[in-house]
Amino acid sequence: MTAPTPAPPMIRMAGVDKFFGPLHVLKNVELEVPKGQVVVVLGPSGSGKSTLCRTINRLEPINSGTIEVDGQPLPAEGKDLARLRADVGMVFQSFNLFAHKSIVENVMLAPVKVRKTPAAEARKTAMELLERVGIATQADKFPAQLSGGQQQRAAIARALAMKPKVMLFDEPTSALDPEMVQEVLDVMTTLAKEGMTMLVVTHEMGFARKAADRVIFMADGEVVEDSAPEEFFSAPKSNRAKDFLGKIL
Ligand code: ADP
Ligand code: MG
Repeated sequence: MTAPTPAPPMIRMAGVDKFFGPLHVLKNVELEVPKGQVVVVLGPSGSGKSTLCRTINRLEPINSGTIEVDGQPLPAEGKDLARLRADVGMVFQSFNLFAHKSIVENVMLAPVKVRKTPAAEARKTAMELLERVGIATQADKFPAQLSGGQQQRAAIARALAMKPKVMLFDEPTSALDPEMVQEVLDVMTTLAKEGMTMLVVTHEMGFARKAADRVIFMADGEVVEDSAPEEFFSAPKSNRAKDFLGKIL
């Protein structure tokens, strides 16, 4: 008998370069995230963290290298791209909910439009997801009627509605009032414990220490460190990481 082929990593970036005009914003990025792993991405402003997230589902094209999600290379465009993009859920700093749709309608929208899920079934799933993120009682309200923390939890439910294989979070709590940060981190921590593969850009060091399997530190478009959280926080190897930690801790 032949040995089973090992599962591919959920995210694989190899030799990825990205330029904005003359600006080299991702430099030969090599990154593999196994299924179920939670990776926190740290780094100063402008180091390329958001761009890294956006290249993973081709919101930004890359100039060289390859990106695979669950073993599938991401095509530059076309039907396959739409299908593969749906495997990657994304949550941004700004919640980007549709203002004129209710919370439950926001969560139902992509499954109905993109996956052609019947509305009744999409609504049922949406309600289950809103229950999971703790805002089922807000389902029929409009986004502006919810607190920032509730809106961000709705945005997480909306991303989960497409049954993604990977969730990317780009500073999901940075726009929130301090008292709402924890409720969003709690939802993310639960997702992590349930085995979701996650890439999380955040300045919440408590979350990084507790929920991350791995910390990646970026500076000037490069992955400078890639280590276990306890190692990164207690003994950062590079001067850039030491500087960064000195400023935020
Ligand atoms: P971070 O999320 O770590 O703050 P970004 O990925 O947003 O960093 O940005 C990395 C670099 O790319 C920065 O110098 C930023 O100014 C630049 N940049 C980001 N988006 C664009 C864009 N659409 N056009 C031109 N430059 C950009
Ligand atoms: Mg950013």
